[in-house]
Amino acid sequence: MEEKKLKLSIAHLYPKLLNLYGDIGNIITLKKRCEWRGITVDFEEINIGDAILAHDLYFIGGGQDKQQEDVAQELYRNKENLLSQRDDGAVFLGICGGYQLFGHYYEPHNSEKLRGISLLDAYTVAGEKRFIGNVTAKTNLVKPETLVGFENHSGLTYIQGETKPLAVVTIGNGNNGIDKFEGAYFKNVFGTYLHGSFLPKNTHFADFLIELALEKRYGEKIKLSKLDDEIENKAHANLVGKAY
Ligand code: GLN
Repeated sequence: MEEKKLKLSIAHLYPKLLNLYGDIGNIITLKKRCEWRGITVDFEEINIGDAILAHDLYFIGGGQDKQQEDVAQELYRNKENLLSQRDDGAVFLGICGGYQLFGHYYEPHNSEKLRGISLLDAYTVAGEKRFIGNVTAKTNLVKPETLVGFENHSGLTYIQGETKPLAVVTIGNGNNGIDKFEGAYFKNVFGTYLHGSFLPKNTHFADFLIELALEKRYGEKIKLSKLDDEIENKAHANLVGKAY
């Protein structure tokens, strides 16, 4: 299908609360990489109290424990709806705090366990120290295999069942600093600890998500045209192997 005839609906979940370390750069990347190809983007910002309608792609950023508490209640109110969106093939990307809420629960240091929405078979408990630094990881989902970013979390995430690791860290801690896994995915739901923000420095993964969302909407695989990613690729290369 000609790209100029394509449309994609993208929802940004709770950006007023979960937008740590410029995670909004992920939404800007997704929107721009569609618009530069002539793909029309229906964009919706979802805030506390808003109904969550059907979309092809949902994004949620990271945040401090307090903001996560407010968002967790809202997400839980929409759990069944979002689970059915997942099972219909919708694409989800969650960064750090948002990723943690994609699991069954997040248990912070000094507050009650926050219920997650179980899009991923995973759970998170607060660790004794914060993981803060550059991360290089390797995934088998895209080429090049490297994913780069910056982590800043105390939560330790453990994945189980059919949920698979997004990548394996070569530098940094990732999910918990023990199993060497970074992030997770199940069906078209993806979570990662990589801030930075993530997608501008990993445009191959951004296009991977857009192609998955287009396939969900149109029921066929659609290969995106190439963009001039010289600057983005330089930014990516500059971070590969960067010391923690
Ligand atoms: N509050 C969570 C933690 O510290 C998530 C932090 C974040 O989103 N960067 O693990």
